[in-house]
Amino acid sequence: MEIKFEKNSVKPNLPKESELGFGKYFTPHMLVVQYEEGKGWYDAKICPFANVSLHPASTVLHYGAEIFEGLKAYRTKDGSVQLFRPMENIRRMNNSAERMCLPLMDEDEMLSLLLAFVKCEEEYVPHSFGTSLYLRPFLFGNDESLGVHTVKRATFMIIASPSGSYYKEGINPVKIMIEEEDVRTVRGGTGYAKCGGNYAASTRAGERASKLGYSQVLWLDGVERKYIEEVGAMNVMFKIDGVIVTPKLTGSILPGITRKSCIEVLRAGGYTVEERLLSVDELLLAMKEGRLEEAWGCGTAAVVSPIGRLMYKGTEYIIGEEKIGKVTQRLYDTLTGIQWGKLPDTYGWIYRV
Ligand SMILES: *Cc1c(COP(=O)(O)O)cnc(C)c1O
Repeated sequence: MEIKFEKNSVKPNLPKESELGFGKYFTPHMLVVQYEEGKGWYDAKICPFANVSLHPASTVLHYGAEIFEGLKAYRTKDGSVQLFRPMENIRRMNNSAERMCLPLMDEDEMLSLLLAFVKCEEEYVPHSFGTSLYLRPFLFGNDESLGVHTVKRATFMIIASPSGSYYKEGINPVKIMIEEEDVRTVRGGTGYAKCGGNYAASTRAGERASKLGYSQVLWLDGVERKYIEEVGAMNVMFKIDGVIVTPKLTGSILPGITRKSCIEVLRAGGYTVEERLLSVDELLLAMKEGRLEEAWGCGTAAVVSPIGRLMYKGTEYIIGEEKIGKVTQRLYDTLTGIQWGKLPDTYGWIYRV
């Protein structure tokens, strides 16, 4: 696909790297591609970052036809820029699109659009360890009609946000509440798709947890309210009796790329990793008997986030003396080492820009 380029001569006013935070500042350009049924993808351009103008009947505004991805561009010590497993994000974007009846895009085509955009904004990849240029590809339906049907018109975009380190004050284990009322999604629903609606529907539980002093909720399955699924918007892993247990992908769980990478690193390091159903009762028993050694969330933003305390039905359980565990720390060191180019990439995960 040929990409038209329209330069933005205005540079953004960015704070110093330690003050960037997450998703607050944006680079001067954005990538936009249009889709129309019968015509396919057309009119690819990298243009000045600006507001999007939508017809008030646009599908996305009424029926939530929207999906997104999240990945980072990392700067290594020698100044070069690299991505981590970008093809995984591209494949997942198409899987999400398929679920939401949005148009798919050729994978190599999407990769070349992403690379062209990252090259264009390369100077905005921050330099300090832990900081990155957060990339947000997204796709939404914008038929100018209120009829409910597969979208016939859509827009694919990528925006980029120079972001600070997730762990400015060091890695501190978080307090998590097991959610009993709301569920994130159900099997057969949209749990495995990265669609905006999943987030809108899960914010309420997160807000309630926050009011009670917890950072996030641990989601249970929507059918039996029995099996553990995810933590906030991250996948979750536990070390029980020396074995790593993570909920298997049943359809209501988002297949995280960090989750997949953690499993591969753990297995390569000789750990047994079980992807299976894990009930809240089994977890409670392990906690009571002191067999739950570590618990952590994993996702692109934080890489890993240790869980120091779990609350269920008013009782709090302390995990690993509320300190980051050995396995969690090792995963953090290995993944961030590869991502920021401090460790050799023995897995073939790095894509140099
Ligand atoms: C994006 C996301 C994750 C983590 O996926 P990564 O590819 O590891 O960033 C986990 N759970 C939910 C609900 C998500 O949206």
